[in-house]
Amino acid sequence: MTEKLHIIGGGMAGSEAAWQAAQAGIPVVIHEMRPHVGTFAHQTGNLAEMVCSNSFRSDDSEQNAVGLLHWEMREAGGLIMEMADAHSLPAGGALAVDRDQFAEGVTARLREHPLVTIEEGEIAALPDDGHWIIATGPLTSGNLAEAIRAETGAEALAFFDAIAPIVYADSVDMDKAWFQSRYDKGETEEERKAYLNCPMDRDQYEAFIDAILAADKTEFHEGETAGYFDGCLPIEVMAERGRETLRFGPMKPVGLTNPHQPDVKAYAVVQLRRDNALGTLFNIVGFQTKMKYGAQTDVFRMIPGLEDAKFARLGGIHRNTFLNSPTLLDDQMRLKSRPNIRFAGQITGVEGYVESAAMGLLAARFAIAEITGKELTTPPAETAMGALVTHITGGAEAKTFQPMNVNFGLFPPVEGLKGGRRGRKDRYKAYTDRAKELWKGWLAQ
Ligand SMILES: Cc1cc2nc3c(=O)[nH]c(=O)nc-3n(C[C@H](O)[C@H](O)[C@H](O)COP(=O)(O)OP(=O)(O)OC[C@H]3O[C@@H](n4cnc5c(N)ncnc54)[C@H](O)[C@@H]3O)c2cc1C
Repeated sequence: MTEKLHIIGGGMAGSEAAWQAAQAGIPVVIHEMRPHVGTFAHQTGNLAEMVCSNSFRSDDSEQNAVGLLHWEMREAGGLIMEMADAHSLPAGGALAVDRDQFAEGVTARLREHPLVTIEEGEIAALPDDGHWIIATGPLTSGNLAEAIRAETGAEALAFFDAIAPIVYADSVDMDKAWFQSRYDKGETEEERKAYLNCPMDRDQYEAFIDAILAADKTEFHEGETAGYFDGCLPIEVMAERGRETLRFGPMKPVGLTNPHQPDVKAYAVVQLRRDNALGTLFNIVGFQTKMKYGAQTDVFRMIPGLEDAKFARLGGIHRNTFLNSPTLLDDQMRLKSRPNIRFAGQITGVEGYVESAAMGLLAARFAIAEITGKELTTPPAETAMGALVTHITGGAEAKTFQPMNVNFGLFPPVEGLKGGRRGRKDRYKAYTDRAKELWKGWLAQ
């Protein structure tokens, strides 16, 4: 009988890993602690629950590294991409999904699979034998985190990211706000109008910055903020870096025309992105925050159009547990000290839904090869998948290792192409063309 693969954690990575293995004919047991043991961010017992934004980011596989990762996962028959495509929402060039339909879709597909068993309950200790993948994510339960720390001897670092608030659409004042994607991007009318925009003049912007700076915040313990990475900075941290930072970041007013006042250029614009298929919920883009709840409602209701906003969810802070993978994992994602255990997902030090699912896909492919007695090389570093895994299992500096999104900076350069901004379009196309060829070759092994 074929040996089983056990997966701890049925999130983005664990769900994808389970699917890959089951589709390859390997019996899989998913050990998921929810709904019996919860986390502060998950709200359901579904597999692959999205805990914050509903976006898988850019879907452009020619010019964007995460778009390329989408492409590679689709080529590999990935479940996360299949369900994201099946439950996508208009988002002007990005891939956003209805979070409930998406998670329910993933859960149903895995439950229905004849080779998948789902065992509910927390795993609190490291398994001694068998084939295992640990994909317990940034909110790994305390007991298991303790067991991992005891085994590795290395510091499993913890730091905090912040959640953006979600607003009920019918509480937005449409005499002030309007629908438009930046630069009217998108193929359909719906996509070109995927975002809700709230304009600010200079005085409103300055008062808003003052209010953010003065707002009550949840205090950090010493050293906690050291782990921030720039993709997920809380709004108040951005504001603290300089009064103009937000105006050049999530509040940039470019590519948008206010139909209520077409001749007046907004000084800053707050954008909200659709958060569910019904279009009843919108999240405030880039407004992850650690302001206290009372302060958040006061501050966000200063935004023109949101004076009477009702919030479905306010922002918050969260822990992020991840391994020092460059020292702990080998290039097949095995724990060097216990090679029957692989790690996958955000706990390996990648960041984001897509990257986490991608590392689930890869860990499963390695495990499948091992169980079936085949050789499987690490994907070439020129592919998005290979660039990420190469980075976390050795490419990154171990001493300063921090979670990483996929980006072209992780790819080996293509020789003979023009550098700088001018050559960027051709360069990115060359990266992605090369990656696609190599990924197809790797899959065909
Ligand atoms: C609050 C918050 C906001 C985030 N916002 C975003 C965002 O906007 N965009 C983005 O791309 N990424 C975001 N992330 C990162 C996101 O969590 C990850 O990118 C992604 O969900 C990680 O996938 P994963 O499979 O590694 O972990 P998860 O999806 O978290 O899955 C891990 C699973 O393991 C289970 N588990 C944990 N411990 C045990 C145990 N001992 N036994 C059994 N089961 C266990 C958990 O219940 C969970 O279901 C956010 C993370 C957090 C915590």
